[in-house]
Amino acid sequence: MASISHNALLLLLFIHRLISISTVGLTLPLSPSASDRLSRLTSDTHSTAIDFGATTSSFPLAVLHPESATDIIALISKARFSSPPLPVSARGHGHSINGQAGARGGLVVAMSGGRRRRIRIARPRPENSAGRQWVDVWGGELWIDVLNWTLANSGLAPRSWTDYLYLSVGGTLSNAGISGQAFHYGPQTSNVYELDVVTGKGELVTCSEKKNSELFYAVLGGLGQFGIITRARIALERAPQRVRWIRVLYSDFGSFTRDQEHLISLYGRQRFDYVEGFVIVDEGLINNWRTSFFSTSNPVKISMIGKGNHILYCLELAKNYDQTNVEVIDEEVETLLRELNFIPASVFTTDLSYVDFLDRVHKAELKLRDKGLWDVPHPWLNLFVPASKINDFDRGVFRGILGNKTGGPILIYPIKKQRLDERSSVVTPDEDIFYLVAFLRSAVPGSGDQTQSLAYLIDQNRQILEYCESAGIGAKQYLPNHSSRAKWEDHFGPGRWERFFHQKAEFDPNCILGIGQGIFHPDS
Ligand code: FAD
Repeated sequence: MASISHNALLLLLFIHRLISISTVGLTLPLSPSASDRLSRLTSDTHSTAIDFGATTSSFPLAVLHPESATDIIALISKARFSSPPLPVSARGHGHSINGQAGARGGLVVAMSGGRRRRIRIARPRPENSAGRQWVDVWGGELWIDVLNWTLANSGLAPRSWTDYLYLSVGGTLSNAGISGQAFHYGPQTSNVYELDVVTGKGELVTCSEKKNSELFYAVLGGLGQFGIITRARIALERAPQRVRWIRVLYSDFGSFTRDQEHLISLYGRQRFDYVEGFVIVDEGLINNWRTSFFSTSNPVKISMIGKGNHILYCLELAKNYDQTNVEVIDEEVETLLRELNFIPASVFTTDLSYVDFLDRVHKAELKLRDKGLWDVPHPWLNLFVPASKINDFDRGVFRGILGNKTGGPILIYPIKKQRLDERSSVVTPDEDIFYLVAFLRSAVPGSGDQTQSLAYLIDQNRQILEYCESAGIGAKQYLPNHSSRAKWEDHFGPGRWERFFHQKAEFDPNCILGIGQGIFHPDS
């Protein structure tokens, strides 16, 4: 265990005071030395009480802005022996939907941002034996900063991404971290070599596949239940310079999914580097924040919709390249596209730098912020749907429950189960291929359109989940949100739930961590 510094001792004393006074319900004094790091300022407790979902709030007692893992060790060591034990939740960038990073009445550890910016990225270096390249980052670092730093310092970059980069390393590793690269590299949880974790026992443990492996795999996809990730060693590869980004349209769902599954079966250079897709249910979605490179005057779209064919499916592909293979990129893309069955003349192509491609959603964010449409409620629903049931899902949900207005983009793309490590805590359907289906919808308060109201969208999510249940779809929620222990047990399934439960007892015996997920509560 790391030794406790003078500063951490001061913090410990402060926490001791905070906890003992708070439990008898008195107003808390802030010691000047510690107030910078353990804060009861309303600006801190209020900003960490809500998240991107903006549908729930859970106010913590105080917020820790840690300077290092030592501060977190001090906090957890004290919180677990408080009477009653105090909940502690790590918060990355707070981009959860249902309060998962919250700690109602407890302590939030603000891992990202804060007044003191902490760049803790170590210079990438080759591992002597396996020739691996990596970067060590603080758990609260945002992926955008990891990308910018590794590119600037080495020309290397992580290889598995999320669509949006303003998410923290610890936050996505606690879920899975997926995007159009996951079919090939697996999610981000499959691209990390080593972690430092402060467990619920207040112990700093270094873990990897070979060392303390049970903790390593428990934490990956572990929903913040077993410890706080303070350092992650992320796999890197040489970054490409440019990306050819292509979109093609389908009216037939079977052709669309067959082509997606064909594309993720390809290996070597003769494949795309990124495969995603989305469902276009109504004209409003043609140019939403995820689809903005379509031309509004696209004749294919207009004619398809005009013929009462109100659903289109868009396959989104990208191929990386650099100056050394600029002559062959056109031919490679052509060859790959030739095997697909999209609507002729529906090919949209653009070409951009690797960073611009990876950071594409942020550009859309800035536009939405300008219009006041970013900080609105987001009742998102993310599902992993087994490939064998994806046609039923299309009929029941895209062509059934949704109607002709959806309130936001709907992503759909396949992932191979073999790219995930079964030892991790990530829960997926028990099938070789499953689809991520992401309903990324925004409620627009006061829009006057009932189909964009929060209540309407929440009710539609309920209908989708009920349909999955009654039609035996076997879907699993990604970024899960369940309201009872029984539903959590069902989410993990037999065997996996017992393992998760056992690991909780092992690494967080007082159940103080991650109460915002609603799985365990202190001393439950
Ligand atoms: P938070 O919301 O702060 O925390 C999430 C959970 O992780 C909480 O339980 C928290 O306690 C825990 N946690 C946070 N930090 C740590 C840590 N250091 N150690 C241990 N536990 C920790 N996801 C994808 O997979 N792919 C996408 O393409 C994608 N795109 C998104 C786009 C947008 C605009 C948004 C808002 C979300 C997107 N997500 C995506 C979902 C995102 O990955 C999760 O919501 C993730 O949890 C957000 O990271 P965060 O840093 O904001 O985590």
